[in-house]
Amino acid sequence: MCSRNGIRGAALALALALSGMAIPAAAEVPDFDADRAFGLLRAQCEMGTRKPGSPGLEELRQLIESTAEEHGLACVRLCFTATDPLGGGEIQVCNMVVSAGPSGGERLWLGAHYDTRPVCDRDPDPARRSEPLVGANDGASGVAVLLHLMEILGRTPPSAGVDFIFFDGEDSGTTGAPGTYCLGSQHLARTWQDMGSPLAAGEPRGLILLDMVGEKDLRIPMERYSLAWAAAWTRQVFDRAGQLGLHAFVPVPGQPVIDDHEPFLRAGIPAVDLIDFDFPQWHTTADTPEVCAPESLDQVGRLLLSLIYEP
Ligand SMILES: [Zn+2]
Repeated sequence: MCSRNGIRGAALALALALSGMAIPAAAEVPDFDADRAFGLLRAQCEMGTRKPGSPGLEELRQLIESTAEEHGLACVRLCFTATDPLGGGEIQVCNMVVSAGPSGGERLWLGAHYDTRPVCDRDPDPARRSEPLVGANDGASGVAVLLHLMEILGRTPPSAGVDFIFFDGEDSGTTGAPGTYCLGSQHLARTWQDMGSPLAAGEPRGLILLDMVGEKDLRIPMERYSLAWAAAWTRQVFDRAGQLGLHAFVPVPGQPVIDDHEPFLRAGIPAVDLIDFDFPQWHTTADTPEVCAPESLDQVGRLLLSLIYEP
């Protein structure tokens, strides 16, 4: 399939041929397989809850590791213990970092949280509010896009480094206490430069966070904190979406959301949260694959592939 770059590459090749210079190979942007990504969303939901301490959470960690291994990508678990904001006990929180492309240098960071909320505390039925979230949109959607991108980058290594960051401990917070959310990202924003961290060898070009990107009729405005603290980076990402004609991205200010990008913004790292927070099934038992669509994952996947292969 001829990509946008293919056309531009052909024009460049013609110009260089006329000038007698060597013709470089045109960069190709690989295709995003939306059905494959949606299958990865379903597979996570079939693992059951991915709340702290659950077998489903560990199964998903192993899927991230096996996908990395299968595609020749380095994968590291960065674990620490924290107090469970909902249960009060001690929980293990493990961020996972998968690296693709050349090591070091300026790198694109792509993130999503892979844990799911232990309770559906916004469910319309009070009797179901203690059930754990399936998290098809709130959790699995962003992870599905990242897992499929790992497969693509394993097959077609990018010319600049990409780090996939799977955040843990995002969604066990308590209402009215924003510091109890985003445990993994708060920790990583403080420690990413420490010795032994896989991120310390490079410099972030910026973080793009995916959260709730699977809803049918996806509509992603410019999240307010991203726009306030990383305006240039946010506009760069939305400008690319506009150039690609991706209709899910609407370059108007959206509402502010406390999410995994926020600790990095505070640390001075450009970060943009791609999130459709207008989601009626948020933190209810209805956050299932039925309210999600492959086309939505496709919009996000195609944007990221362009930013990776046409930086
Ligand atoms: Zn949530």
